Amino acid sequence: MAEVKLKDYAQITRPQNFEEIMLLADRLQGKTVKMVNSTKDGGGVAEMLHRVVPLFNELGLNMKWETIEGNAEFFDATKAFHNALHGKEVEITKEMFKVHNEVNDLNAKKMTFNEDIVVIHDPQPVGLIQMKDKSPAKWVWRCHIDTATPHPQVWKHLEQYITKYDASIFSAPSFAKQLPIPQVMIYPAIDPFAEKNRILTKAEIDSVRQKFDLPNDKPIITQVSRFDYLKDPIGVFETYKLVKKHHDCVFVYAGGAASDDPEGTAVLNELQERAAGDKDFRILLLPPFSDFDINGLQRASTIVMQKSLKEGFGLTVTEALWKKKPVIAGAVGGIPLQVINNFTGMLVHSVEGAAYKIRYLLNNPEVGERMGEYGHEHVREKFLLTRNMRNYLLLFLSLQHPGESVIEI
Ligand code: UDP
Repeated sequence: MAEVKLKDYAQITRPQNFEEIMLLADRLQGKTVKMVNSTKDGGGVAEMLHRVVPLFNELGLNMKWETIEGNAEFFDATKAFHNALHGKEVEITKEMFKVHNEVNDLNAKKMTFNEDIVVIHDPQPVGLIQMKDKSPAKWVWRCHIDTATPHPQVWKHLEQYITKYDASIFSAPSFAKQLPIPQVMIYPAIDPFAEKNRILTKAEIDSVRQKFDLPNDKPIITQVSRFDYLKDPIGVFETYKLVKKHHDCVFVYAGGAASDDPEGTAVLNELQERAAGDKDFRILLLPPFSDFDINGLQRASTIVMQKSLKEGFGLTVTEALWKKKPVIAGAVGGIPLQVINNFTGMLVHSVEGAAYKIRYLLNNPEVGERMGEYGHEHVREKFLLTRNMRNYLLLFLSLQHPGESVIEI
C-alpha cells in the first residue's frame, strides 16, 4: 500500500479538528518522544504505532519507536497477564512475576531514555520505569487492555510500577483504576486508510461476496467476531431463526479459526452443530490477517450485528459504522459510546429485541441508510486515528506544563 501522509488524513478529518492538531503540534516542535512496546508486528498496538509514528514526525515532533526483547517464557507470562487482566481464569505463578521483572531489568540496562517524553505501551515493558530517575523524560503508561475486572495479583504486581509514572492512559471510563497518578482517557480508534477500512471498489466487494459464495439478491446480516460466548454467537443464530420466518435473508458469522484456543473451538463446534443444514446461516472461518475480506464482508452487508454480552470497546462496531452500515448491537461495554440508540444504530438487550429491530430495518431501509450516515459522522468526529493523535498531543503539551491549570496556546 502506498505510504499515507498527513495531507491524506486532512481530507477525511473535520477541518476544525485538523487545525487543532496543527496548532498543538506547533507548540511541540522538535520535542523528542519515545514509544516503547513489545513487538513491531502483529496486534493492534503495533499496527497503530506503524501508522502514527511517521505522522507525528511529519508534524514536527521527533518520535522514535523501540521494542523490548524477551524470550518465550517472558511472552508466555505476559500473555497470561493479558488474559488475567481481561478477567479470564488463568494460572498465575510467582515464576511469571520473576521472569517479567528480570526481562524488564535486562532491557532497561540496554536502553536509553534521554527524550522529553517516554510512552510505555501495555504491561510487557511497564518495568522500564526503573530508569525514570536517570532520565529527564516525563513517563506515561498507556494501557490498551480492558482492565475493568483485573486479576488482583497481576494488577498488584503491575501497580508497583504504574504508580511511578507521571501519567497513565486508559481506553474507556470503565477501565479506570484507583491510582495516585493522573489518568487520561483516550478511546481506541480506527485507521480509515488501513486495509480493513479503506474504501473498496464495487468489483472488490463483489470479489469477496463471490469468494464466500454470498448472494447479491438477498439481505446479508453479518457479525464479525471471535468464537467466544461473550460475543453471543448462539444468540446471533437464534436471532437468525426469528428473522428468517419473515424475511428471505442470509446471516454470516465470520471469525478466526482459533486453533490454539480450546474454548474457541468448543464455541465453533456448538455453533456448527446448531446451524447444521441451515444453508442461510453461514459460518466463515477467517485466517489471521483477513483484513481485506473483513472489509469486503462488512461492506457487502445490509446490516451489521454485534450482539455481544460483554465487550471492551468493540472495534467491529466502529469499523461497521465507518462503512455507513446500520448496526444492531448489545448495549454493553464501549458499544453505547458508539451506537447512540435510534440515531447511529440500535441497541438491543435480547434475541427477540435484535430480531425485531432487524426486521424493522429490513422493512424500512431508508432508516438504516440514515443511521449509516450518522454513524459515519460520529466515527469521523470521535473514533478516527487523528482524534487519537489530537489526544496524545494535548497530553504531551500538558506534561510540558506541570501544575498549570490553564495552558495558553
Ligand atoms: N477480527 C479479525 N478477525 C476475526 C475476528 C475479528 O481480524 O476473526 C478483528 C475485527 O475486525 C476487529 C478486531 O479483530 O478489528 C476485534 O476487536 P473488537 O474490539 O471488536 O473485539 P475483541 O476481539 O478485541 O474482543
